[in-house]
Amino acid sequence: MKGVVFNILEDMVTEKGGLMMWQKVIDKAGFGGGYTAVSTYNDDELFSIVGAVVEELDLPAESVISAFGTYMFGQLASRYPVFVDSCDDLFSFLESIDSVIHLEVRKLMTETNLPSIKCERIGDGQLVMDYRSARRLCVLAEGLIYGAAEHYNTPIKIEHPVCMHKGSDHCDMRVNITHE
Ligand code: ZN
Repeated sequence: MKGVVFNILEDMVTEKGGLMMWQKVIDKAGFGGGYTAVSTYNDDELFSIVGAVVEELDLPAESVISAFGTYMFGQLASRYPVFVDSCDDLFSFLESIDSVIHLEVRKLMTETNLPSIKCERIGDGQLVMDYRSARRLCVLAEGLIYGAAEHYNTPIKIEHPVCMHKGSDHCDMRVNITHE
């Protein structure tokens, strides 16, 4: 995982709990910190730190990971605005992830472990996302989608009826615009 993801996690933890909190979770996870945005670090290192955050906050892992995804989206959108600026609405953006955004990420960051994401619109205000990833970070993906929905001012609900954590070879995430 790229250092930028660690940087964003550090920003979130520091924003919510102060610098001491970040130092505490880094110590707890047994790492030194000091991540560089474009360097690559072991995925396990990120998961250990997230695990330490979960323990420290005493919250369910899923809600911490999802909140991190939502926070991460806002940070990525401000660091790399070209990706969100080129799409006018949420669904166009979601459809561009696999073909446009991940292609650019691969070029920029030599990141090879990206998920495969296929989108299909199945009706008015409904889109099904087929998510496949060796990392199985569908909860993080859900959080990112909620972050994208906030960015485009589009209220949504996500259903997640098919999941790799429940024995499937992929996840289906149904994104419904709620018109609230
Ligand atoms: Zn899933």
